[in-house]
Amino acid sequence: DSVVNRIAAGEIIVQPANALKELLENSIDAGSTMIEILVKEGGLKLLQITDNGHGIDKDDMNILCERFTTSKIEKYDDLERISTYGFRGEALASISHISRLSVTSKTKASPLAYKCQYVNGQLANSNGRSDPNAEPKPVAGKDGTQITVEDLFYNVPSRLKSFRSKSDEFSKIVDVVTRYAVHTKRVGFSCKKFGEPYLVLSTRPQATTEDKIRTLYGSEIASELLSINLTGDELSGTEGSPAQDFGLLEVTGFVSNASYLNKKKITHIFFINDRLVSCNPLKRIINSVYQFFLPKGSHPFVYLSLKIKPENIDVNIHPTKRELRFLHEDDIMELIRDKLHSLLAATDY
Ligand code: ADP
Ligand code: MG
Repeated sequence: DSVVNRIAAGEIIVQPANALKELLENSIDAGSTMIEILVKEGGLKLLQITDNGHGIDKDDMNILCERFTTSKIEKYDDLERISTYGFRGEALASISHISRLSVTSKTKASPLAYKCQYVNGQLANSNGRSDPNAEPKPVAGKDGTQITVEDLFYNVPSRLKSFRSKSDEFSKIVDVVTRYAVHTKRVGFSCKKFGEPYLVLSTRPQATTEDKIRTLYGSEIASELLSINLTGDELSGTEGSPAQDFGLLEVTGFVSNASYLNKKKITHIFFINDRLVSCNPLKRIINSVYQFFLPKGSHPFVYLSLKIKPENIDVNIHPTKRELRFLHEDDIMELIRDKLHSLLAATDY
């Protein structure tokens, strides 16, 4: 029933930035090259994301916000995706239970865009009431998808009261967009506050990762970066002993060099299999390595992207949780620690 669903949804989406992360991932998965975000009142009043991806078929729009339905599961023939992220299909469903959600989408094959409103997982009519006979409404539109989330948590008053300030929520949104903008290749991002003419951030799709870091974090940081690019043999067990397979496929990224001296609190950006994660074990090894090189109180910039064999990732942890578990965690951490240590030690000036 709708109360149970609302409670479940409120556990997956606890703040506007969680909703935005899910919507960003959907737009990226849809092959978009440009993703635009519009935010009003920290995302609590309006969170709108417009992409130029492959769009949603009109015929799929009526089940879009159902959760784990057979009809929806049958659509999932991409087994690799399921094994990578676990079967999901619940972000839009969740959002539809705790907001007023509308979706406008156009595929290349369709001459028209279609617009739908959803409440509690179901299509709604133009009065915003759930209606089994509601139909996607043809409208003019460009290729791609626009998702509009209004009045997030309007029906969860206790949650609404828990937000201290709209600007805090806005900062968290910008932070998520910034991290995806650094990581996601061939996709440009922009973010704007409703009613204000300027963009809070903007990156071009064709920019290099270094360029993006320069744009988003400043050239002082960008000029002090070392690139990490580990693949193949570098990622199996220790030298000398027989190679061990930890399921680690790739480690790439950029990190501050050994003379980096910025007292500002800069970021750790971690992606595992293209999903933004917080990873305390990674944080710990990074701190343990940098303490040899940087004076106390200076915070390095660290962006690391790990690719791990999907079968090694624990899919029982809810995929929207930012903390992820995987096999051989200690071995992988040790390996990254050693590589990072030698990289920093080898920089000369
Ligand atoms: P999941 O991403 O796990 O499948 P979601 O509820 O996030 O579940 O999205 C449901 C489905 O809706 C996606 O699988 C995708 O087919 C479609 N979809 C959502 N957002 C977009 C988008 N921006 N562009 C194209 N398709 C989308
Ligand atoms: Mg999704």
